[in-house]
Amino acid sequence: MLVQKYHCYISVMHKLLNGQNMIPLFTKLQEENYDNLAGNARDHSVSKGIVILCKDDQSSVKRYKCAPFTLFPSPITKDGFQLLTFLQPHINKLIHDVSQDDEFMSSVFQSVIKVDDFTKKLYNIYKASKTSVKQLQLGIFRSDYMFDCVIEKNRTETYNPKQIEVNTIAASFIGLGSRINSVHCKVLQDAKMKPLTTQMPKNEALTKVAHGLVAAWETYGNSDAIVVFLVEENEANIFDQRALEYAIYEINESIIVKRKTFTELLKNIALSSDRKITVNDEEVAVVYFRTGYTPNDYTNEQFWDVRLKLEKSCAILCPSVGYQLAGCKKMQEVLAQPNVLEKFIDDEDVVQKMRSTFAGLYALDMNSDGDNAVQMARTNPDHYVLKPQREGGGNNVYGEDIVTLLSEIGNDERRCAYILMEKICPKPLDNIFVTASGHQKVNAISEFGTYGVILARGTEIIENYSAGHLLRSKSHEHNDGGVAAGVAVLDSPLLV
Ligand code: ADP
Ligand code: MG
Ligand code: MG
Repeated sequence: MLVQKYHCYISVMHKLLNGQNMIPLFTKLQEENYDNLAGNARDHSVSKGIVILCKDDQSSVKRYKCAPFTLFPSPITKDGFQLLTFLQPHINKLIHDVSQDDEFMSSVFQSVIKVDDFTKKLYNIYKASKTSVKQLQLGIFRSDYMFDCVIEKNRTETYNPKQIEVNTIAASFIGLGSRINSVHCKVLQDAKMKPLTTQMPKNEALTKVAHGLVAAWETYGNSDAIVVFLVEENEANIFDQRALEYAIYEINESIIVKRKTFTELLKNIALSSDRKITVNDEEVAVVYFRTGYTPNDYTNEQFWDVRLKLEKSCAILCPSVGYQLAGCKKMQEVLAQPNVLEKFIDDEDVVQKMRSTFAGLYALDMNSDGDNAVQMARTNPDHYVLKPQREGGGNNVYGEDIVTLLSEIGNDERRCAYILMEKICPKPLDNIFVTASGHQKVNAISEFGTYGVILARGTEIIENYSAGHLLRSKSHEHNDGGVAAGVAVLDSPLLV
């Protein structure tokens, strides 16, 4: 009964407020038994293929479970949603343009590559593979944001989207994330809150991103060539990738996708004199990376040779090493410096809107600005996040650990491997997290991402669009970690 009362309350308030700022209403969820709703939602999610592989399973038979998700969609502001969707194609183009600008790239990475071996290896490939040929490149990006909650003088709250980072390699959950929407719509219906479903934006990430891969394959122009998904050996999130593979097939049945690991490529790859890549004698049109973004992915030094070979070829890489570098935290920090966006974007309105989403970002270079940033971090560590040039979650440094790390490094160039970022504070809201084995109430914060697709050859832009979104939520007690790390869960936005 209580749960129904709560839901009626939400829908009545919703009507009263005419959809205006409902976020405060979500701050307290009634203590109640959500067994039925959660059980039905779990069945629904499995039937939609929102599943992951059980990695801890020793049995030789593959076992699956539903990916974790929130029972209710989480509110984000409609204005924020519209702004970020609008900005995504401009972010795509910005990433493309900076990656084409050798001089700029060199100035951005010069301090980092002295002290960060991983970034140096990527940068060396970038330098070594520059050819006079205008290379086709495909970007499947995801720009992530949190809505910073600010209490204004009149005590009202505003929620300002602030960019956490731009992922330019292996941005995941295109498949599973776009399907959770329908599960949430059904939950709202079951919970007698159906009117709220009109506030849930459609999420076409899967078909839009698949369209980008199809467009790349078609532009390559050999109907016998295959698409390679470069994947990890034991991937738990395999169905997210498979969903994209099948979505490609639904658009164009002649496209053959093959999943390959670095080890398989190492054994079977060949680069011809006319720059064609073959794997087991099959020509490759597109290589889509779902690995290769952390040092751990290069368990064999020769994987770097594979990477260089791919980069020297005419296959369309998603991403090119240039795109990957342009998504580094260091690049994000440089792009936030005064007058840098203006170098790449002519439209002042776009510059101003994009800049409004930037949090405070500080370099730790060996100069007085860097010294000041170190001092700021040591004085108020809880106001900042210290970030190395790494991807995949779990790498950032928070709170007192920042002070310890900076003390250990001292006045040494090694600090240039990091950037300092202002900590964003979204408003925690109650929700129910549903997992394969149960459900529990969690006071959660959300991270919203917009996907973008770009296909380009030099200055020629063939495709460039915003491609759906992803919402993930995690307990406000966790600083870091994604869905794959078991910290965050899939969610969908409810626009308020
Ligand atoms: P990664 O490439 O490893 O995903 P992120 O920059 O996205 O690196 O950081 C990982 C996580 O850390 C984010 O998902 C977010 O939860 C948290 N985080 C990162 N930057 C901030 C920030 N400025 N304020 C608050 N939380 C942050
Ligand atoms: Mg990332
Ligand atoms: Mg991230």
